[in-house]
Amino acid sequence: MSKLLGLRCRECGTEYELQATHVCEMCFGPLDVVYDQAALKKVVTRDRIEQGPKSMWRYRDLLPIEDSVPVVTLGEGMTPLVKADRLGAELGLRNLYLKNDSMNPTNSFKDRVVSVAISWARAHGFETIACASTGNLANAVAAYAVRAGLECFVFIPDDLEAGKVASIGVFDPNVVAVRGNYDEVNRLCSQLVESTPWAFCNINIRPFYAEGSKTLTFRLAARPCTTPSPRTRPSGCCRSSPTRSPGRSPSATRPTART
Ligand SMILES: [Zn+2]
Repeated sequence: MSKLLGLRCRECGTEYELQATHVCEMCFGPLDVVYDQAALKKVVTRDRIEQGPKSMWRYRDLLPIEDSVPVVTLGEGMTPLVKADRLGAELGLRNLYLKNDSMNPTNSFKDRVVSVAISWARAHGFETIACASTGNLANAVAAYAVRAGLECFVFIPDDLEAGKVASIGVFDPNVVAVRGNYDEVNRLCSQLVESTPWAFCNINIRPFYAEGSKTLTFRLAARPCTTPSPRTRPSGCCRSSPTRSPGRSPSATRPTART
């Protein structure tokens, strides 16, 4: 019996079969993967999870990839939780922890979502994987496409920092530099979805891609010393190439959450 029942619109509840689509035809709301919760309750236990691999795939039962499907993984997840005493003191927080997802294979939390997305795409016959990105996502998609043996196209703004472009180029994807900002790159990719047989991680297979993010909070919940905060929020990694305006101090640097 499959643990996956289909897709459901988050806004109006309309249900769809599992497929590469992300927008409700009725209301344009986002689509979420629907699990057979009753079936999962019979098999998922803390012991079963802890006996799984030392990666985010120990939560496989709670991800939209069936047991028979080989996953595309580089060992993502299980990143360190660092107690930030000095930052906590500055903010008035006694127990502030930072989940250091820059320790993932391509240095960002995007590895979690891309690992799930590409696993789903390859299992469903896609031969080309693509994305719109301003850096981190393109890096992850390019790396995991190589791992999966898939053709890869990454669409980026043409003024993306050279350091980010070089990092993406290590994995030798087809890089398409688009004259415009991220929104314009994303709009172009949304149009290409209609005319190409490609899986765009953050567009037509977004429901599966988004599921990978859950593994971050699963891991936090599994640790007895911490309680997940409703403020838990992933942010982009700027370690390799901080976005910094001239004259701004490093402390003023703000990571972007959409890459
Ligand atoms: Zn809807």
